[in-house]
Amino acid sequence: MKYRLLAPGPTPVPDSVLREMSQTLIHHRTDHFERIFSECKDGLKWLLETRTAPLVLSCSGTGAFEAGIENFLSQGDTILCITGGKFAENWLKMSACFGLNAVEILVPWGKAVTESQVKAALASYPEAKALVLVASETSTGVRHPFEAIGALTKNHPDCLFVVDGVTAVGVFDIAPERHNIDVLVFGSQKGLMLPPGLGFIWASEKAWARARESNLPKFYFDLAKEKKAQTANQTGHTPAVSLIMGLKEALLIMKSEGREAIFSRHLRLAKAARAAASALGLELFAESPTEAITSIYSPKSLEPDAIYQGLMKFANFTIAGGQEQMAGKIFRIGHMGYVDDIDLIGVFGALEIVLKKLGYEKFSMGASIAAASPILKEGFR
Ligand SMILES: *Cc1c(COP(=O)(O)O)cnc(C)c1O
Repeated sequence: MKYRLLAPGPTPVPDSVLREMSQTLIHHRTDHFERIFSECKDGLKWLLETRTAPLVLSCSGTGAFEAGIENFLSQGDTILCITGGKFAENWLKMSACFGLNAVEILVPWGKAVTESQVKAALASYPEAKALVLVASETSTGVRHPFEAIGALTKNHPDCLFVVDGVTAVGVFDIAPERHNIDVLVFGSQKGLMLPPGLGFIWASEKAWARARESNLPKFYFDLAKEKKAQTANQTGHTPAVSLIMGLKEALLIMKSEGREAIFSRHLRLAKAARAAASALGLELFAESPTEAITSIYSPKSLEPDAIYQGLMKFANFTIAGGQEQMAGKIFRIGHMGYVDDIDLIGVFGALEIVLKKLGYEKFSMGASIAAASPILKEGFR
């Protein structure tokens, strides 16, 4: 059966990217590699609308986040972590693990942090050296108001605004310079249409100034060294050459589609998915949903993983269930990266058949497609 990957990551990889990565391996200390790397840097600057390129690291998104902690903070620093999902909780745990004074700004799963909550936290902890936010929390499907929070931290010269943009970059408009972000982390296997294995980190002048004072141990992720190498189109250590060749192609594809077109496609698919789920009588989990995925409550009458397994058995679709406190309660459909309108029609068409097969009868066949189609039609020019 045709493999259909609509997970919240990894996401499908276009054929031309796969072909690029399967080329004869080249050595990285060469002009050839440097030309490819330089093109990648230009593409990334275009995507983020920044004057400087993010650093490209050979690790997953978590590794890039760890690099951020090691390089921009110091022992005992107070760090405010906005939670509300699994990834945000990871950053809280990681901060504590590195000897930081990690303070949680608690947000219930499924909800977005409010500006007043952040304002209060910044007022209570004037010594805070960083505020961490996951722009698009993939475990819950929530989009947090990173734009408004960047406008707040801008007025706190000692506090870096650190953003996990793993399912934000390449999905919706997130431009660190414009949005007052100091450290932005992302990875290859979500919005960038690549396999897992590359981590990215962009930092502001304010963050690089802080890096000079940082006293946490670092070696592989010594970003000052890495920055020096990457400025010269090289890398500090052996890079993931094949993935970087794929990155060059993925960025070309993105450029030919255009930033605005990419963002409006994701918004259209997300709106269509929400309308489709509601038309089936299903309840959406996220109060303020991201464009990257849609999180939906499973009907209580069904076994916890029935939908996930049913979709896999019926049409070889891979979606995802819930994580931790939401395990067995929600399911999540990814629609980021190399995903289009037909993928969305396909997954909801299959979901209808699976739901009926499982005995869930709260809709008539075709209802989700009827709700999604007018939204998808808007994208047909
Ligand atoms: C996928 C993801 C990560 C990073 O996970 P890795 O498995 O380390 O790449 C971090 N944050 C969010 C929001 C994610 O979706």
